[in-house]
Amino acid sequence: MTLGIYPGTFDPITHGHADVIARSLHVVQHVVVAVAPNHRKAPLFDIKERVELAKIATQHLPGVVVEPFEGLLVEYVRRRGAQAIIRGLRAVSDFEHEFQMALLNRKLDKNLETIFLMASEEYSYLTSSMVKEVAAVGGPLHDFLHPEVAERLKTQLRLTQS
Ligand code: ADP
Repeated sequence: MTLGIYPGTFDPITHGHADVIARSLHVVQHVVVAVAPNHRKAPLFDIKERVELAKIATQHLPGVVVEPFEGLLVEYVRRRGAQAIIRGLRAVSDFEHEFQMALLNRKLDKNLETIFLMASEEYSYLTSSMVKEVAAVGGPLHDFLHPEVAERLKTQLRLTQS
């Protein structure tokens, strides 16, 4: 069995993330979507909600498990018995940060590979932050988010704005 770990903040999960997950299943048999607390980014949704939303958005994909993770990624990957870290690349702007992280993780575990996948070009501009901005001004979300995720985002923004 080949297992990949797709770590991220997923605040919330978008069609871009889901596309990367679907593509990763062409390379590995199973994927764990590993949701990080990432306090540095001050996420809109708490980790439990982000896990729940990622489960909803990937329920159509066989071989995908979503779970929270904390601590050092390379240790988590080892514990999980995975072969690779999966990351997505949108544009050149993602590259430097992703490159540094991949090299750092390789330094921490020389046998660990990071696989980079590009989402379909229609999602290449898509970020969770941009989607939150569109939602905050009442824009349409159907091209970016699973319908249930979109509803939850609208509700969450109403709660935080009131
Ligand atoms: P992080 O906080 O770790 O960057 P994100 O949830 O923002 O977590 O993203 C997780 C991974 O998915 C990152 O590798 C990011 O570059 C990638 N990603 C996010 N959106 C897209 C997209 N639209 N297309 C391709 N990759 C994406």
